Amino acid sequence: MRHLSVTLVCENADHEEQARSVVAEANEVLVQEVGIVLDIKASVRGRVSSWKPLAALHELKEIIPAPETDLVVCFVRDPPSRKAAKQLLSVVTMQEFLAVIDDTWRRYIVLWHWHPAVLRHEVYHAFIPTNEHSGCGLMSSISAARFFPFTPPVILKQYLCEEDRDVVLRYKWRKFDEEPFAPRGGAEDMR
Ligand SMILES: [Zn+2]
Repeated sequence: MRHLSVTLVCENADHEEQARSVVAEANEVLVQEVGIVLDIKASVRGRVSSWKPLAALHELKEIIPAPETDLVVCFVRDPPSRKAAKQLLSVVTMQEFLAVIDDTWRRYIVLWHWHPAVLRHEVYHAFIPTNEHSGCGLMSSISAARFFPFTPPVILKQYLCEEDRDVVLRYKWRKFDEEPFAPRGGAEDMR
């Protein structure tokens, strides 16, 4: 079992309680799917205000510049006015950022849509070298869809497909204090 240490970043105690239950639900599947479990080791009060993925990640890195845990997960709740704006925008663009993980270290995650499958999707990105979405299962880009402007997005595919699961298992033991996926001649050793 791979234990990943996690720092939670939440605005208040109520959010933290909800965040912990999302993590607990995600763990039930993570353990079974790939033998990975998220251990919350620290909890920090903070919030990011940008709803643009890169800017939000930048804010999160300013809150936790030198993580002492493998992952840093920020749970953000949009204020109602922004939520409405986002929902309208998502109808126009057919796209909405539910969550994001940084592409360099793959250890900073911002979650706007607090759903265990969305959290798992981001965690799996930390173990899959490509930053593209795959054509199947939970890691496909169409795994979430909003059918009506004011209903929550629906996660269409909850589980990893076999090919993605193989990749996650291959990189399951990656180190989080090193840039991931740099060629180091022997990825086989990481099994
Ligand atoms: Zn993704």
